[in-house]
Amino acid sequence: MTALPDISTVDIVGGSLGGLFHAVALTELGLDVNVWERSTGRPDDRGAGIVLQPGVAWFLGEFCGVDPDRVSVPVTHRQFFTKDGNIRIMPMRQQMISWGTIYKALRDALPAERYHDGQPVTALDPTPAGATIHTGEAGHLVDLAIIADGSASGHRGLVTPDGASRYAGYVAYRGVIEEADLPQELAVRFRDRFSFYDGDHTQFLCYFIPGDFGTTTPGRRRMNWVWYVRADAPELERITTDRNGVGHGLSLPPGLIAPQVRTDLLARARATLPQPLRELVEHTREPFLQAILDGRVTTMRNGRTLLTGDAAFVVRPHTAASAEKAAADAITLYHALQQAPSTDAALQAWEQLRLAEGAAIYSQGVSLGHRLGLSEMETTAGIIGRSN
Ligand SMILES: Cc1cc2nc3c(=O)[nH]c(=O)nc-3n(C[C@H](O)[C@H](O)[C@H](O)COP(=O)(O)OP(=O)(O)OC[C@H]3O[C@@H](n4cnc5c(N)ncnc54)[C@H](O)[C@@H]3O)c2cc1C
Repeated sequence: MTALPDISTVDIVGGSLGGLFHAVALTELGLDVNVWERSTGRPDDRGAGIVLQPGVAWFLGEFCGVDPDRVSVPVTHRQFFTKDGNIRIMPMRQQMISWGTIYKALRDALPAERYHDGQPVTALDPTPAGATIHTGEAGHLVDLAIIADGSASGHRGLVTPDGASRYAGYVAYRGVIEEADLPQELAVRFRDRFSFYDGDHTQFLCYFIPGDFGTTTPGRRRMNWVWYVRADAPELERITTDRNGVGHGLSLPPGLIAPQVRTDLLARARATLPQPLRELVEHTREPFLQAILDGRVTTMRNGRTLLTGDAAFVVRPHTAASAEKAAADAITLYHALQQAPSTDAALQAWEQLRLAEGAAIYSQGVSLGHRLGLSEMETTAGIIGRSN
């Protein structure tokens, strides 16, 4: 099925979740889609755990032929720890998935020849009828260009003057542990639970996610934890400098944490976390971390060049909405192209809807960070991302 007679070719800049959601949905519409991804090979499973939201679940079932119930771990309750080890429990059903499981489902749904890894888009020129894309020496014309190159987007400036991401003043330390590596008596404390601890200017949360190949069999899953901790700019620089003295800026991948930073993390865990959560940190061989960023735009479209995913709005993880937002960008475009009377009307309607929702989720994330005592209402630190 072709969406509209004047769109046939689509190029997507960036082949992470945002780019892939769009590629799969627009291929489903019958369009001739190509994804350009600058990195090579399968990316690290750096997102670790993700709360499975309805849009992503619908997408997996509808477009990827993957039953979301089979690739996610259900929780039935939330449990809230207090410092002295007491627990308050409330029923709440949710499903947990991993970044890698979503990525694999999307890659499997897209014909392999449509995904060009190791091939960065070096230039993009919006034109009235589409865009010229440069991936090597020569440029080629497409009817629609989708920029999905993430929070540090190098092409955002072609669509909007704003949106550069800012450091929110705190980081998420993260850890992933094989369920089989956890002592049984510790693992059972987290089964079927989404666990939280809200401390003084800090929050810790954890839940089980699928293991390798999306397996959800008990014993073969993974424990995923996230610990939000304030860090001023010098501290951010210190903790994202790896064991070899190399600075990574806004994140630190697994396996590279400097010994002193790990020692400090363990000491902080022993001093401040309730015992079961402290033990999770102690059992984590390769903690990693990412800076929390804020980014919002006022425009998501320049003619037939669209800005999507984290390139448009970087929302705080407390919303559990980053992947969901990228999926919703793609689903909304899919429906708009089918239903609107013209391509321009479709893109206009898409932009209006996605700007409103992006702004709402952005504000919700800032407000949640404030309520947790992690940051002020608006970001005070300097601009770290770049808009062009
Ligand atoms: C470290 C990290 C951890 C995360 N953890 C979670 C989580 O737990 N839960 C959650 O919901 N969300 C998480 N997210 C966010 C979630 O992954 C994103 O919101 C979602 O994938 C949409 O992002 P994106 O695809 O727009 O951008 P990104 O995931 O940042 O991807 C951008 C892609 O563009 C590529 N690229 C950049 N420039 C070019 C170029 N010029 N040419 C070609 N390719 C280019 C990059 O290599 C990258 O693959 C995380 C993101 C990161 C970075």
